[in-house]
Amino acid sequence: MVRAIVGANWGDEGKGKITDMLGEKSDIIVRFQGGSNAGHTIINDYGKFALHLLPSGVFYQHTTCIIGNGVALNIPYLQREIDDIVSKGVPKPHILVSDRAQILMPYHIDFDAYEEERLGGKAFGSTKSGIAPFYSDKYAKIGFQVSELFDEDTLVEKVARVAEQKNILLEHMYHKPLIDPKELLETLHEYRDMVAPYVCDTSLYISNALKEGKTVLLEGQLGTLKDPDFGIYPMVTSSSTLAAYGAIGAGIAPYEIKDIITVVKAYSSAVGAGEFVSEIFGDEADELRRRGGDGGEFGATTGHPRRMGWFDAVASRYGVRMQGATEVALTVLDVLGYLDEIPVCVGYEIDGEVTKDFPVTAKLKKAKPVYEVLPGWKEEIRGITKYEDLPENCRNYIEFIEKELGVPVTMVSNGPGRHEIIHR
Ligand code: GDP
Repeated sequence: MVRAIVGANWGDEGKGKITDMLGEKSDIIVRFQGGSNAGHTIINDYGKFALHLLPSGVFYQHTTCIIGNGVALNIPYLQREIDDIVSKGVPKPHILVSDRAQILMPYHIDFDAYEEERLGGKAFGSTKSGIAPFYSDKYAKIGFQVSELFDEDTLVEKVARVAEQKNILLEHMYHKPLIDPKELLETLHEYRDMVAPYVCDTSLYISNALKEGKTVLLEGQLGTLKDPDFGIYPMVTSSSTLAAYGAIGAGIAPYEIKDIITVVKAYSSAVGAGEFVSEIFGDEADELRRRGGDGGEFGATTGHPRRMGWFDAVASRYGVRMQGATEVALTVLDVLGYLDEIPVCVGYEIDGEVTKDFPVTAKLKKAKPVYEVLPGWKEEIRGITKYEDLPENCRNYIEFIEKELGVPVTMVSNGPGRHEIIHR
């Protein structure tokens, strides 16, 4: 049985916590897209961790954690994350890396930074983890597959060929230091030795595990609105954030994915530039940011203050639909307990007309939020474990959102801790 956990919004919905929780009951956890550009914050008995590349299952001894073929694999980063958790007392996790995963090269990180520098004020607000240059190269067919590290002749030839092409850009476009193919080859030899203990045909491994009745969890990064096809293009990430891509990025049949838990945040937040219709500013935003998440809404990877906004039913319904959500986990509800009234964006006004359907970016730029204001509950809801024990206005807020989404809210998260969750 395969289950996916994905985000409906701009990311940072609190997927890490839900994955960590469900990871306990899974045999295999797979990262299927993205790289070290986003992060999950996980709080468990070992402490507080910001994981960027490792699947959340690394804290359990009974799970196998897989870096799928769809991931942008930064090998030294992977090594550092493993060393870091082990140094903090976590038993060495069981990790497998797909032999078809591609390698995030040192120059991808450089090109990411150079391009943001070149764009100046028009930059994408990239985390400069090399993700966009990585996926560009993958689809331009000049990426390096993990398997190629173990085929020396091909490697030598390809390093020379790719360095030649990259050096033209480095010299003439960016005016930056050139790549030395010999040095690059040495780096790749180091990468090979680092990754060797983990490499296998993970697609086959998962397929065999499924035949044995094992439980697999696909762990998504970011959310629908950052998907390159269905998000707020071009202010998106460079690999698909949708559950559908989980099948490709993990190498399994699409029909195997039976349950798509889509995480929806009880208010909105976004990192980086891009359309955000229900965004709020000033003191109102500062207060929500300060109270938000666990100790404030600041990027897990960048530390940047996140942009804040009210719950956006238009974007979230779309987010949930594009994920193919079978159930919704509504998170960070506890944060809203300070508000007398809570605005919810229920429509977009575009050129004088109100729509409830999420439009393409060009139209989104013109959209103004249409709010419905719900009464707050003015109470601390952390510690509550039964749905019936939540204040009435809080239940009304949840049920309002559920109706807007059209998908059952099966979990309500009312605190950052891993057991702070109410099942319905
Ligand atoms: P992810 O990328 O979707 O995993 O999101 P992050 O983990 O980066 O962001 C979620 C933040 O909110 C983290 O700091 C979590 O510890 C915190 N968090 C998750 N769920 C809740 C919740 O229900 N209440 C509160 N207050 N914080 C939460």
